[in-house]
Formats: sequence, C-alpha cells, structure tokens
Amino acid sequence: MLKEVIHEHKWDFCQLQINYLDWEVINAKELYEIADEAKVPVIVMEPLRGGGLCNLPEKAAQKLKADCPNDTQASFGLRWVTSKKRVFTILSGMSNLQQLKENIDTFTNFREFTQTEEKIAAEIAKIIQSQGAINCTACRYCMEVCPRGINIPAIFGLYNVYKSNDNGFMFNVNYEALKEDERADKCINCHLCSKNCPQGLDIPALLKQVEDTVKKVG
Ligand code: SF4
Ligand code: SF4
Repeated sequence: MLKEVIHEHKWDFCQLQINYLDWEVINAKELYEIADEAKVPVIVMEPLRGGGLCNLPEKAAQKLKADCPNDTQASFGLRWVTSKKRVFTILSGMSNLQQLKENIDTFTNFREFTQTEEKIAAEIAKIIQSQGAINCTACRYCMEVCPRGINIPAIFGLYNVYKSNDNGFMFNVNYEALKEDERADKCINCHLCSKNCPQGLDIPALLKQVEDTVKKVG
C-alpha cells in the first residue's frame, strides 16, 4: 500500500513504525526503504516499541550491558533510529521527568551509531524474538472495539514478562490479579479486535494461547 500511495502525491512526510526489533519482524526495513527511495522524510512512531525495548528480556539486557556499557536501553534504541538518514523526527513517549532528562541527554551528547552497534542491535533483536513474546505494542486500539472489555494489552504484557523471565508463579499471581471480566477466557471470538490491530495479530488465538499457558503454569 505504501509503495502504491507514495508516488500518488507530493508528501511532506510519512509516519512509520521503526525500531531495531520491527526492522525485520514487521518488515519496517522495507517500508523505510520505500520512503527513502521516494525521498519522503520519515517520522518514526514506536521507536522503543511502546517501551518494550526499555524492558528487555534478561539475556538481551545482559548482552547490551556488556557490549555497550555507555548506553541505557532507551538511548541504544533511540540512537539506532536516529542512524536512519531519512528519519527527521522521532515520537518518543515519555512518562516521567527521568525519561525526559535521559532523552535530552541522549540527543544533547549525541553519539553516531556504528556498524558494530548495528550488528549488536540485530543480535539483540534475535534474542528478543527467540523468547516467543507476543508482538503487541500496547497501543490499545483493540480495546476500543472489544464488546467484552477484555484487557488485551495487559494480558499480552504479562505473558511477555513470563516469556522473558520464565517465572510461572508470578505470571499466575499477576494474571489472577486482573479483574475476572477482563481475562482471556471471557473472549467470545468475534474477531473485532484483530481488525483494529496495527500489528495484524490474531488476538483471539493468542488469548487462547495465554489462557492455556496460565492453566499449565498455575
Ligand atoms: S475476539 Fe475476544 S478479545 Fe477480540 S473483540 Fe471479540 S471478545 Fe474482544
Ligand atoms: S491493537 Fe494489537 S498491538 Fe495494539 S494493544 Fe491491541 S493487540 Fe496490542
């Protein structure tokens, strides 16, 4: 679709979801290259994947710490995005003063991303993928249409934490802390949510997967 519309108008910019995990996972690389070829500047959304790249699985976090001790998880992700030459603005959500200060520091004392760091980012992305996490960015668009009020991003968030730390006990405890009406077993398989999901997730099937896992580890 992007390939089709990008040549139909003279665009000032396009907005794409780009970060070092989605580069391959949702083919952000291809979208970026289409914009780059058409010389359309890119505004980046989800540069840290809804905060997921600041909350790396243990193995990935350890690798980043060992290979890039001068970076935080956030600065590494933001520097990676900035290394893409067609990018001119990054929409970085911040939820407290500390994050704001960290972002200002990253861009005030900016360090260019190196080829070696590119390789490290690709390796970290592979580690994250190998954990089997659900590709949810917690945008909550699915929640706008779910007739049952299932707390989809919270459920997927808990599952992803479990996939990164393998702590079945805590997964179960936190899942049980969700309101009964918001849990995966209340899904009626209407599929309205999937139509609204920008990540193209088969949400009812994934909810079933989470529910089965909760039962297994419980
Ligand atoms: S399929 Fe389930 S989660 Fe999705 S909108 Fe319907 S009830 Fe909600
Ligand atoms: S719409 Fe998709 S990506 Fe967004 S919160 Fe729902 S499941 Fe996650």
